[in-house]
Amino acid sequence: MSSSAAGSNTQPSTAHEAVGHGEGVISETEQARFLPRADLQILIRLLRDDGFTVVGPKLDQSAIVYGEITQVADLPIGWTDQQQPGQYRLVPRNDDRMFGYVVGPHSWKQFLFPPSAIVATAQRTGDSWRMSTPDEPSPRYAFLGVRACELAAIAVQDKVFLGGAYVDPIYQQRRASVLLIAVNCTQAASTCFCTSMKTGPRCKAGFDLALTEIDSGFTLETGSERGRSLALRLPLREAQAAELCDAEQGREEAERQITKQMNTDGLHDLLLGQLRSPHWQTVAERCLSCTNCTMVCPTCFCSTVTEVSDLTGDHVDRERHWDSCFNMDISRVNGVPVRDSVASRYRQWLTHKLATWQDQFGTSGCVGCGRCITWCPPGIDLTQEVWTLQQLARESGHGLSHEEAPEQTVEIGSGEG
Ligand code: SF4
Ligand code: SF4
Repeated sequence: MSSSAAGSNTQPSTAHEAVGHGEGVISETEQARFLPRADLQILIRLLRDDGFTVVGPKLDQSAIVYGEITQVADLPIGWTDQQQPGQYRLVPRNDDRMFGYVVGPHSWKQFLFPPSAIVATAQRTGDSWRMSTPDEPSPRYAFLGVRACELAAIAVQDKVFLGGAYVDPIYQQRRASVLLIAVNCTQAASTCFCTSMKTGPRCKAGFDLALTEIDSGFTLETGSERGRSLALRLPLREAQAAELCDAEQGREEAERQITKQMNTDGLHDLLLGQLRSPHWQTVAERCLSCTNCTMVCPTCFCSTVTEVSDLTGDHVDRERHWDSCFNMDISRVNGVPVRDSVASRYRQWLTHKLATWQDQFGTSGCVGCGRCITWCPPGIDLTQEVWTLQQLARESGHGLSHEEAPEQTVEIGSGEG
């Protein structure tokens, strides 16, 4: 049994409105606070003393990933990432920046929507069964180093898991206690297009604290009551004008470096008017249906459920695992998959992400982080695929509905798997 995007769950509001913490009002005085570089350890220690598991960037497997941080030395000091379609490289910097990278293969969704979770158990009791749901306390996370596009992604998942009739209890409990410490980008990758999706690169809402790193430390903004309380316990001082200027220049540099764009004007109708385009088959000739794009995406939420019994057959765990719309089985209905071709699965992914997600949740399913471009083995770039579809739509008559689309196009349910 799998769950995907099938349910209707209309929430017509902007992504940022769904964020639980942080009203995002930044006053000039708050912006003028400064945390010296040597005192970041105090922030980590305070969070750990308060019972948080601090999660942040660290080096692992030749990438910058998210994991538990106990000390500043765990951070990827002096390292950065270089990204292109289908390529990711870790390279040394010529300074000691702690957050001098963009985004890696991990997103924060693994901590709020865990890749594997037991959602129910059944225990045989004599002639009967006792069903229960797990009641262990949720971990209390403090996320350190959340980027603007990632704040937007969390807001999108808030709508998915909390915004409709069916609330996900695992996500709800973890989300309720999480503390979000954002770090503004001061550089961008060639795969970033947050400016097109209006999600970045500046963190504007949805955080408790937001830092901007310069060589000597961090300028600091607060975005919630919890953030303000935490800031009062930090050894902050007034930021000097030069420090504020450096921070602003860093943020502006990140914006300047973003060259990738996606035109989202009328995209919903345009994509749904291209359901029979031969271009889906063209993409399928490159797409491996490997699921990478959905695994790294911070908003994708498909999952599947399996039941696992012990050897006695007296105890059964119902386990939920991440799944992907690129897996054929996720669309299996009455014994056969509805989307039995790669073309149909790529079409489902792209049109859901950029069009029907709007119908379900009132927001795009894409925040422009670029992960799906970097981590796609053949380097398929959704912004280029959208551009091609926009060109084809212009040539063939813009705005045709699914029913009106010309019939001379390819059959994409060809069963090539
Ligand atoms: S679709 Fe791609 S660019 Fe958009 S949020 Fe997901 S991983 Fe990021
Ligand atoms: S688009 Fe790329 S990452 Fe996604 S399934 Fe196809 S080959 Fe894999």
